[in-house]
Amino acid sequence: MMDIWVDVANKIKNIHPDKEFIPLHEPTLDGNEKKYVNDCIEAGWVSSVGKYVDQFERSLAEYTGVKRAVAVVNGTAALQVALKIVGVQPEDEVLIPSLTFIATGNAVSYCGATPHFVDVSRTTLGLDPHKLEKYLKEIAVLNDKVCVNKYSGNIIRAVVPMHTFGHPVDMDPLIEVCNLYNITIVEDAAESLGSFYKGIHTGNLGKASAVSFNGNKIITTGGGGAILTNDETLADYAKHLTTTAKVPHQWDYVHDEVGYNYRMPNINAALGCAQLEKLDNYIEKKRHLVEKYEQIISVYDGIELFKDQSFSKSNYWLQTLAIDEQKHNKENVLETLNHNGIMSRPVWTPLHKLKPYKDCPKSDLSITDDLFYRIINIPSSPYLGDIK
Ligand SMILES: *Cc1c(COP(=O)(O)O)cnc(C)c1O
Repeated sequence: MMDIWVDVANKIKNIHPDKEFIPLHEPTLDGNEKKYVNDCIEAGWVSSVGKYVDQFERSLAEYTGVKRAVAVVNGTAALQVALKIVGVQPEDEVLIPSLTFIATGNAVSYCGATPHFVDVSRTTLGLDPHKLEKYLKEIAVLNDKVCVNKYSGNIIRAVVPMHTFGHPVDMDPLIEVCNLYNITIVEDAAESLGSFYKGIHTGNLGKASAVSFNGNKIITTGGGGAILTNDETLADYAKHLTTTAKVPHQWDYVHDEVGYNYRMPNINAALGCAQLEKLDNYIEKKRHLVEKYEQIISVYDGIELFKDQSFSKSNYWLQTLAIDEQKHNKENVLETLNHNGIMSRPVWTPLHKLKPYKDCPKSDLSITDDLFYRIINIPSSPYLGDIK
């Protein structure tokens, strides 16, 4: 059993033989990054003044096809604000996958709301619309068109589909269920910049969404995020909230509510502009890497490489394997790959198993629990997919 994974490690190493150790995901800074950052430094515009924030927001909106993008300090802040602008309030419940990075849960908590965990689909790794519908039939009632959890008495205000490792959730049936129950969709698109569902960029399918430009994401601004929305009023409100809710005035400090200092600095936006220019190139390489991995993996029993569904075009942010636990042991696999210079990581510990969230309401999470024992990520940097 061990031998297979030493073999896999060696074959992955052969993709890039001059590297001793292959990290999970490294930023690629091979475009105009230096030029634009230098430009900021020379102009003295490194912080909240300068042209790059506006430019980055425009380019992002153009790339993703949304009306507006609002750049902020990180993806978690973007998700918090996206939830807030659609009306999530303290005491509300927000349906989210348990199989996600903890930021999804934290953003809900920052709004004073309670994460309520629902299960994912084995094929998309994201929220399962059919299971959600069955669950809502059980626990939800509509009071005056407001969806209420009949057991807790709280309003179920929103649902947050997260496009896991870049693979889009099956959104059409999800939208149908949410319309039925009048629940607002806010997408956690932190991992899916460049991923499309039926030809539509992720982040366009809810009322608002959040993307991340953290250092490990498909493109980076050092740290950063953005709120995306097709609603101009919501976008204006997001901008206002994330810039300390300051009312424009020539000199007076007037703020009309408790806002946040979440604005993205100009120097980070400069990086973002350069990175965005290269995004399609990175995706092309990542999609080529899938083919290389397919060749390596397909000869073994009990290892599945995650690929696009018929309705989706993934950015393949992180390459993902599902192992058959009858044939392979996750801990052994991770041990062997990491020991042999191939950085690999398990999927996140599901949120309902973590201390801050273990008492939150939840549906049956059998698929989440099963996937937790079977999913690992393997090196995914764009350069591994270089076409030689
Ligand atoms: C990265 C990530 C975030 C948060 O982004 P940060 O920029 O790190 O705050 C949120 N949700 C998911 C699923 C992520 O992967």
